Amino acid sequence: MLEKRYGTFAGGIDLPDDKDQTLDEPVVAFWPLSHLAVPLAPAAGPPARLLFKPGQYVSRGEKLAAADSPDQVDVFAPLAGKVDSLGEALLRSGRNGWRSSPAVVLTQLDPPAGLSEVQPQYDWQSADAQSLRLRLAEGGLMCGGQSQPMGRWLERVRQAGAATLIGNLMENVPFVTADHAALRDFSSAVVRGLAILARALEIRQVLLAVDHRRLGHYRQAVGPARLLRIDALALVHKYPTGAEAMLVLVLTRREVPPGRSALAVGSAMVNGADCLAVYRWVACGQAPTGRVVTVSGPRVRKPGNFYLPFGADAAEVLSCAGARAGLHVEGSPMSGRPLPPGAVVGPATDALLALEPAPPARAMQCIRCGWCVDHCPVRLNVAALNDDYELVRLDRARRRGVQACIDCGICSYLCPSHLSLTDRVGQLKEALRRDGAGNAL
Ligand code: SF4
Ligand code: SF4
Repeated sequence: MLEKRYGTFAGGIDLPDDKDQTLDEPVVAFWPLSHLAVPLAPAAGPPARLLFKPGQYVSRGEKLAAADSPDQVDVFAPLAGKVDSLGEALLRSGRNGWRSSPAVVLTQLDPPAGLSEVQPQYDWQSADAQSLRLRLAEGGLMCGGQSQPMGRWLERVRQAGAATLIGNLMENVPFVTADHAALRDFSSAVVRGLAILARALEIRQVLLAVDHRRLGHYRQAVGPARLLRIDALALVHKYPTGAEAMLVLVLTRREVPPGRSALAVGSAMVNGADCLAVYRWVACGQAPTGRVVTVSGPRVRKPGNFYLPFGADAAEVLSCAGARAGLHVEGSPMSGRPLPPGAVVGPATDALLALEPAPPARAMQCIRCGWCVDHCPVRLNVAALNDDYELVRLDRARRRGVQACIDCGICSYLCPSHLSLTDRVGQLKEALRRDGAGNAL
């Protein structure tokens, strides 16, 4: 693995690692679970057509619901069990909220088999790009980082003419080790998944970015990466290097325009869970039915990296892991969101954390210390945006480029006046989006 000196960016902070609880934990199956509420619309489109009736039994990996359009994905049964009823499940949506999806409730579940190495059945290295794209589009795969059906994402990347594909395994946020564990335990599958995507997209420049502090864990990834002409790069861990816009800036020196994705500057990005799911489906015919999730935090008694089935109830998982009451969030402590009742594990769930609630602190007026401005990685004048929020000056916020915010959470983390700046900036962005002033690729 190459430890190259790439560029960096202004701002950012050095966060505590806090990964000791799960860093060396292998990926294992999670059990027991009383039920699953498997989302029929894991992508924000219409739900897939259910193929079973309540009362019928389904086997693990069997197709539960069929996609009728490219905006849907096929849904496969994560575990064997009884189709009990139709319900609702909440999935994380965008940066700021949750989305309700119709869900099929499975009960009387069989225990999971876990995530073992599977023998490849399909010679993807001899397949042409078109056949690979077709295969990728029909497997119920999502591009988890983008919460989009894989087929749609491939189409967008091709339309944008992306020349670089980046496997983003930086994961430089406290507690979360899901991608780290996937790359360490299934290095060859993750690297091959990235190579399959590159082949399907006919992209030649393929980069795999990891945190330089974990180099010793990834020795087994080096061989396959070299063989498949993937540049494996160990980068410094300044937070938020793993955020899409920052990683593209560090690796290509191209700045993602405010409110756009990396595709706007010719780069496509996937995470470790996506690569693993791609390899297991394309090469081994294993449909995506779950993902590696870190369950951790100071209030969890039995932390670990678990292969959790889609539709697992987040509250039940945390309770089985011995989580005490506190601040329960999905995602990282910096940008995760508190878990509402009914939230389930979906393709974008990388962590379920039980954190210590922040000590009560009264928000005070901005004292113009400038910390938020100095450390904002996209160089926003956050203090001025806070004024715009308080004075409801949407137009000024737009002119200040509020859409460039990457939701890293640094400003709230640092603010000595305890102002919830990230939320406020997020609300400004959302208001502008509703106004139609935002733009997206
Ligand atoms: S304004 Fe956005 S990008 Fe800047 S520090 Fe705050 S959350 Fe991060
Ligand atoms: S960190 Fe807080 S107090 Fe300091 S300038 Fe920013 S908003 Fe004001």
